[in-house]
Amino acid sequence: MSTDFDTGVVVVGAGLAGLSTARKLHDAGVDVVVLEARDRVGGRTLSQTEGDGLLVEYGGQWVGPTQDHMYALIAEFGLETFTQYADGDNLQLADGRLLRYHGAIPTGDPIIAADLMDAMVELTSAAMEVDTAAPWEHPRAAELDAMTVETWIGSQPYCDGAKVWLRTLTRAIFPAEPGEISLLHALFYISSGGGLEKMIGIINSAQENRLTHGSMQVSQRLAGLLGDRVRLNSPVHRIDHDADGVTVHHEHGALHARRVIVAIPPTLAGRIRYAPALPGLRDQLTQRSFMASTIKMSVVYETPFWRADGLSGHMVGDNRLVCTTLDQTHPDRPEGVLVCFIDAAAARRALRMPADERRATVIEDLVTYYGEQARNPVAVYEKSWLDDEWARGCYVGMMSPGTWSTLGPALREPIGPIHWAGTECATKWNGYMDGAVSSGLATAEAVLAEIAATAEVAR
Ligand SMILES: Cc1cc2nc3c(=O)[nH]c(=O)nc-3n(C[C@H](O)[C@H](O)[C@H](O)COP(=O)(O)OP(=O)(O)OC[C@H]3O[C@@H](n4cnc5c(N)ncnc54)[C@H](O)[C@@H]3O)c2cc1C
Repeated sequence: MSTDFDTGVVVVGAGLAGLSTARKLHDAGVDVVVLEARDRVGGRTLSQTEGDGLLVEYGGQWVGPTQDHMYALIAEFGLETFTQYADGDNLQLADGRLLRYHGAIPTGDPIIAADLMDAMVELTSAAMEVDTAAPWEHPRAAELDAMTVETWIGSQPYCDGAKVWLRTLTRAIFPAEPGEISLLHALFYISSGGGLEKMIGIINSAQENRLTHGSMQVSQRLAGLLGDRVRLNSPVHRIDHDADGVTVHHEHGALHARRVIVAIPPTLAGRIRYAPALPGLRDQLTQRSFMASTIKMSVVYETPFWRADGLSGHMVGDNRLVCTTLDQTHPDRPEGVLVCFIDAAAARRALRMPADERRATVIEDLVTYYGEQARNPVAVYEKSWLDDEWARGCYVGMMSPGTWSTLGPALREPIGPIHWAGTECATKWNGYMDGAVSSGLATAEAVLAEIAATAEVAR
């Protein structure tokens, strides 16, 4: 391969990870080009204005305490945030009964609540023993990785109500079925988020704040700093590589560079062709990291009527299509909006329904939770991330059983001039926007260290 480079580093993907890595390299004086498949930046964040000006968040939206990388960008760009509405009671549907509760953990039924407290403490303390940079080094890695979350739930002495809720919690957090995820992966993920309570609550937790003009603004501002170095509509389909560099082939041509940073989920990285082919361990990892399943639906009403009933709009269901809801009302708008998450197997079930049946089933669920006033929304906006070609699911790619313990190191290890980034690589807030940013920064640092060590001139 010649050393006559078009640019120093090509970054694949203009999500928060790709843009953060590119920005850091650019600031350090490295010549960088970002190739993005879509006609927009932001990846798994998508903030769109609908109807007469209602902002709809179709993708990632909340930020919360300890997500310092996101807050730093929000402060740097002077972006406005507001606090997620959380006044009033939450709802839990358990065994067909609607129970009211306050805070992160359902306390409507005292026996269930006591068991849930125990389970949360047990899971969180087990999680804190997992080193998020190297889960495979846990002394019981193979054993924990041979177990699914479902096997663990089934083997616990908790009451049935608590087990039902733990399954619901798994679907909401990952979002996958408890039988699909390795227990080691679940513990890794909980550890990276700082514990279950930090992840599932609203105030003082991961769902505390929203960006007033949409989370996609952060990516747009980062892209603004990079100008025409970000090239849209440029899906990458092949990467040729050798010790001297890479040739990155995309829809409109090819770029020859010293290095490439692939900042997309592992399963999508596995769909790119590499020449020569990547080592089997890396490819097997990409085969076994699967994207979770969520349909996000925003159901719009004339007013946030549930607030008058003393309800927060936060609901946790059991076996219906709608697994959780939150109050998505914008502080500057009169409409009330309930955002509904259809998670894991429910998402797959929902996608087999025609769109109007899916919508009618969701509305019926909302009537069950919030009463007859929920029957007549003025608008409904939905996005299936399973059908999105450049995500193929969400919120995050996860490890199937047996993957972390046998293939884990292949997640972040560079292969010659090919480096990896993306929220899936993050050690803190993995799966979240914050993790995307930190993974991008960490990979840029590694590349800058390499450049410094080899005293390269190709910038
Ligand atoms: C419905 C939903 C709700 C969520 N809720 C939250 C939340 O409230 N808070 C939170 O912190 N996080 C949330 N998340 C997760 C968060 O959005 C993601 O973790 C984060 O945006 C991932 O950023 P990334 O840069 O790692 O990946 P992506 O955003 O996926 O970026 C990768 C980019 O690469 C592009 N790409 C893919 N393949 C190619 C290719 N071959 N060639 C070129 N480009 C390619 C994609 O188009 C994409 O733009 C949510 C996600 C979803 C979808």
